Amino acid sequence: MRTINETPKRLQEAYNFVRQFFPNWDRKRQWQIRYISGVYYIAKCNTDLKTIDFRLISDDDIELYMLLIHEICHTSSPAHSKKWQDRMKIAGHRINKSGYPLLTREIINEVNRYKGSSNINGKFIYRKIVEIVMDNKNISFEDIMIYLSKEYYGGGRA
Ligand SMILES: [Zn+2]
Repeated sequence: MRTINETPKRLQEAYNFVRQFFPNWDRKRQWQIRYISGVYYIAKCNTDLKTIDFRLISDDDIELYMLLIHEICHTSSPAHSKKWQDRMKIAGHRINKSGYPLLTREIINEVNRYKGSSNINGKFIYRKIVEIVMDNKNISFEDIMIYLSKEYYGGGRA
């Protein structure tokens, strides 16, 4: 069911583009981008394999870049911890200085979404569950709970 597909040019190019904003990260170029299907997440950072796995590639450049940056910031910071948020902000400053105000704004919005837990209420989680089930109708209750705890309760990475 889970398949690694050939990486589309659009995804590879977007990855190469956002890497410039992380000049001190992965100097040895160990981290690879992968295009994956048969999984429930849209994008995920896999620290064991040093891969950033994407299932969906947004048609919107800003959104695609933002999500890549979101995942790169996870490479040393599981969950959406303060450390992850700080890495996002540092990247945001650099992106702003490089002259990409729209992308900068997306990064700041993304950090704000995860700031504190006030955004993660029942309604938010309910919508997430609907999204997960729509994407994977055979997912077990247990897997939904594991996913939610990893993503929103600091138990892992996504
Ligand atoms: Zn995340």
